[in-house]
Amino acid sequence: MYDIIVIGAGPAGLTAAIYARRASKKVLVLEAKTYGGQIVNTLDIENYPVERHISGFDFATKLYNQAKDLGAEIVFEKVIDIKNNDEFKEVITNKQTYKAKTIILATGADNRKLGIDNEDKLLGKGISYCATCDGAFYKNKIVAVVGGGNTALEEALYLSDIASTVYLIHRRDEFRGSDRTVKDLKKKNNIEFIYNSNVTKLNANETLESIEVTNKVGQTNNLEIDGLFIAVGRIPENQNFAKIIELDEHGYVKAGEDCHTNIPGIFVAGDNRIKSLRQLVTATSDGAVAATEAVKYIRESEK
Ligand code: NAP
Repeated sequence: MYDIIVIGAGPAGLTAAIYARRASKKVLVLEAKTYGGQIVNTLDIENYPVERHISGFDFATKLYNQAKDLGAEIVFEKVIDIKNNDEFKEVITNKQTYKAKTIILATGADNRKLGIDNEDKLLGKGISYCATCDGAFYKNKIVAVVGGGNTALEEALYLSDIASTVYLIHRRDEFRGSDRTVKDLKKKNNIEFIYNSNVTKLNANETLESIEVTNKVGQTNNLEIDGLFIAVGRIPENQNFAKIIELDEHGYVKAGEDCHTNIPGIFVAGDNRIKSLRQLVTATSDGAVAATEAVKYIRESEK
């Protein structure tokens, strides 16, 4: 029986493992793919305290080694279900069933893709899913944001203070995001709105050079840009927990800053919970909080 099983070896999960091991708990981390989560796709991290520049891969590898060196077991198996029994919890993978006193759900969220050719290949080479992470690389350059929700609106506003021109491309003629942010956007003189249109093609050599934008009646326009920020929603990876864990209408785990879910002894950390800022620093922060809460839960239940 493990004290804590962490599901997901991204920044939140690995940080949880570090905190749990430093509290001398028996820890298993289960990961379906490779360690590091989404951060491994980031070429250069500039906004994590202390490290001025570090690649996402190096950051993830350091974190992975730190958790391993402290004695966390890290196993690459896909979790397909979790169960809450009176005395213990069960985590069922594609290979076996593990028992634990507590579970930390740290599975993250994946960016929804546009699904057009070269989208994956150009990630970090003109394509980004995060203006807060990558906006600074586009100082005085021309960028476009695609999407009509609050994320797209806020990314456009953020980028308008950095880039020379921001095209905001939305597939309808009204935004899903807040009217107030739309008003703020309209006050800016370097934002151009393109409604009723989709990005249909990415043109690149080594890096993105231009995009094809197609409107509702099928007319196309080629826009020369340096960067495209795709903000068409995210997909939290909570599908396998939905039977017992309360999720909001977008699929995020209902939990506040204490990382408690609706089930005592099951905690959540990182991008798969409801939160206002999804960043590396908030993910690692959640990992620390969730592990500390799990340790407290074990202590209380053993009294
Ligand atoms: P979202 O609200 O789901 O919006 C996604 C947007 O992308 C929609 O406008 C949608 O168009 C568009 N879209 C989806 N698939 C597309 C595709 N294949 N091609 C082109 N456009 C596509 O996602 P979000 O903006 O990431 O926000 C997620 C949640 O977080 C929301 O509840 C949001 O309010 C919240 N949030 C809140 C704040 C804040 O309160 N400050 C900040 C950020 C996010 P349609 O409109 O046509 O469906």
